[in-house]
Amino acid sequence: MISIEQAVDKLLSLTPSLDQHEQIPITSALGRILAENIISTIDVPPQNNSAMDGYVIRTSDLENPPWTFPVSSVIPAGAIPHAIPAGSIARIFTGAEIPENCDAVVMQENCEVDPNSEKVTLLKPVTPGENIRAKGQDIAKGDTILGKGQQLSPQDIGLLASIGVTHVHVAQKVRVAIITTGDELISATDSHLLPPGKIFNSNLPMLQALLEKANCEVISALHIPDNLQQTTHTLTECSHTADLIISCGGVSVGEKDFVKDALEQVGELDFWKVKLKPGKPIAIGKINQARFLGLPGNPVSSFVTFILFALPVIKKLQGRPYKAPRYFTLPCNFSLSSPRTRPEFIRVQMTENGIEQFPNQSSGVLRSLSWADALAFIPEETRLSPGEPIKTYPLSLFFE
Ligand code: AMP
Ligand code: MG
Repeated sequence: MISIEQAVDKLLSLTPSLDQHEQIPITSALGRILAENIISTIDVPPQNNSAMDGYVIRTSDLENPPWTFPVSSVIPAGAIPHAIPAGSIARIFTGAEIPENCDAVVMQENCEVDPNSEKVTLLKPVTPGENIRAKGQDIAKGDTILGKGQQLSPQDIGLLASIGVTHVHVAQKVRVAIITTGDELISATDSHLLPPGKIFNSNLPMLQALLEKANCEVISALHIPDNLQQTTHTLTECSHTADLIISCGGVSVGEKDFVKDALEQVGELDFWKVKLKPGKPIAIGKINQARFLGLPGNPVSSFVTFILFALPVIKKLQGRPYKAPRYFTLPCNFSLSSPRTRPEFIRVQMTENGIEQFPNQSSGVLRSLSWADALAFIPEETRLSPGEPIKTYPLSLFFE
């Protein structure tokens, strides 16, 4: 059996980067992977501007108080300011450009306006630069603001807009085909009534949703019975259009598990037993140009192996650098008296009182995952008492 880290290393070394790009508007770019470095051609802000509504002054005019001045002009946001005459101040609003001969803004709360003379008295002294947002303080011309391989967040899209970028080059979406297997499974879209002996297929829609979250294009989502011929046929069909084929179930060693045999017939197979609970067996391979990943069928095993193994493969195909998933070391609020023979990811919630575990950790219990907001890692041969620290992996961070 190989370790989780060994499995990820092997997977990454077997997976190429697709290196296919397209140019899209930034308004459609959420979650997409940048295929270029973005270098700013402007300063942001482009000029010094006011951080406050108030009065813009020359601090060299401030000698001994009282500091009472006539108002020589009004500068709204968006206007082009002119230098102000010596011994005067100007009314200014937030976001308006600072006149070239001024160096500070006094907020209006610290000013008193005489209604008769319309002169303004500054109640507090200010220092040069106060309440001014300096030219280029956010972004300087020539700065690389976002790098190739980065996934675009809503904030990044705002940042791109702030330097006037309307379109970006991004990696093309990875095209994925999903195939679930099993004679016992039916889809509720085919029949709401559950016939005897059957269960509803939960993993097909779950994997579809996981792939959408990982910003892939699901090009087909198929279910097939436990049948060698259908398996070989479907794998071959999918390999003509998919970059990645993910199957679910039928990957262990029972007489009804056909995925490995089928893969050997139509492609290349690597089969690994990974030292991991849940989700020991995974099948890796290639069919024509498509990468193949065979996940175990138990819903929790499918989910966990998708997170641990499919996501790194997808990121590599997308041309992103590999980053180990981030975790926090947090105290558990439960005990574990019987040590495990394999490292285990358990379904947990992060609470103010520490890490709480779902009471039933069986790999068939999908509710444990729906309830959880994180997976906690329990190394093999570990006993735990309440308060002891455990590595906790928030689910959302796997998708970074
Ligand atoms: P397998 O890996 O095919 O041996 O399946 C292991 C367990 O997971 C069995 O109890 C299956 O019924 C169940 N299972 C497999 N595929 C799915 C699926 N798509 N949805 C729900 N349960 C599944
Ligand atoms: Mg099966």
